[in-house]
Amino acid sequence: MTDRYCVLGNPVAHSRSPAIHAMFAAQCRQDLSYEALLAPLDGFADTLRCFVAGGGKGANVTVPFKEEAFRLCSSVSDRAAQAGAVNTLTFTGAEVRGDNTDGAGLVRDIESNLSFALAGRRILLLGAGGAARGVIAPLLAAHPADLFVANRTAARAAELVRLFGGTAVVDGGDFAKIAGRSFDLVVNATSASLAGQALPLPDGAFAEGALAYDMMYGKGETPFLALARSQGAARLADGLGMLVEQAAEAFFVWRGVHPASGPVLAALRAQLAA
Ligand code: NDP
Repeated sequence: MTDRYCVLGNPVAHSRSPAIHAMFAAQCRQDLSYEALLAPLDGFADTLRCFVAGGGKGANVTVPFKEEAFRLCSSVSDRAAQAGAVNTLTFTGAEVRGDNTDGAGLVRDIESNLSFALAGRRILLLGAGGAARGVIAPLLAAHPADLFVANRTAARAAELVRLFGGTAVVDGGDFAKIAGRSFDLVVNATSASLAGQALPLPDGAFAEGALAYDMMYGKGETPFLALARSQGAARLADGLGMLVEQAAEAFFVWRGVHPASGPVLAALRAQLAA
């Protein structure tokens, strides 16, 4: 019988995950289906329960449910526990196991696909939601010089600094706290681009040679990347590579096989450009 998987989110119609997993399944000769499911903002747990009751084997979780999904798990991987957010669920009998592949996906995209070494870099992470939580520990494991978390709601940034500071240099606050600092890598992990909104990023945030990375992806330049270009960022990247790499890692979690991400990323780029 074909194994069922899905991505749950709100909004979710823009998601390329069904196309990615269909390509991985064909490449690795795995018999599975993968669909996008819109969960009501107050109905994530119910939507998930229905999917599991219908024989679902696993699910990806996207905006804004990653932290809620974490709280519903009966067990989690170490990297999900560190993040306090999950993007990959596996259902076995009554067990709901949570994992987080976002950080591995981001770091692989930046270091391998974009050839941008993270060691010694000054990193600015915008946002303190589920996606930001998932990438902090993997970014810190790549030994940057420091990491600053800026978020619209300063208290959420402060909470991440409390959780992830310690041995690493992690600082944070609201967007005003960025003024006067510059960074080699600026990662947008807010959902502002999803709503077509720009961020109040002060001038001077991008150091010489800096990479601007928007986790959001789509046809054309996102508002964040347009802003980064106008503020002098040397390199721009959207989150399509991260999406493919986190999906490859989730596919491995579910199926025990590593798909080749390169051809899938190239196919998606071509689709977006068409
Ligand atoms: P959450 O809903 O958990 O968090 C949203 C974050 O965005 C919060 O920090 C929130 O700030 C901030 N935010 C929302 N609107 C604005 C705004 N207008 N101005 C400033 N800040 C804003 O979402 P996720 O963390 O799950 O996802 C964030 C983004 O990352 C989404 O666009 C998602 O699609 C993308 N993503 C991409 C991935 C990829 O593979 N490419 C993987 C994971 C995520 P506040 O705390 O103040 O509300």
